Amino acid sequence: MAQEICKDPVVIQQGLAKVRNRRWILWSVILVYMPCLIIALEMEATGSTMGTLFIIWLVLLCVAVGLATVVKCPRCGNTYHTNGPTFLPVRKCVHCGLAVNADKKNPVVAGEKEP
Ligand SMILES: [Zn+2]
Repeated sequence: MAQEICKDPVVIQQGLAKVRNRRWILWSVILVYMPCLIIALEMEATGSTMGTLFIIWLVLLCVAVGLATVVKCPRCGNTYHTNGPTFLPVRKCVHCGLAVNADKKNPVVAGEKEP
């Protein structure tokens, strides 16, 4: 199923901002785990409290991964981080190679495929 390539810099910029936002949510949820674990241990939380906190974090992680999985590439229209069943939170579209900060580096050519 071939998608039409979008070259409109405004659409690319808005789409990449959405991709960056989803990536920020994902990495924030991952990085918040250790500080929260340390705080809970400092507060001498019980085993059941720790289990509950872990379940809450796990649910948040699933939501963040889900949001990052469904976000579309603004250039090719495919899922930005997902190729088939494989989720790769890399800094380029796994289909067309559009970099996550392509609009910041060169907004004019962000819509054009890199050589
Ligand atoms: Zn793409």
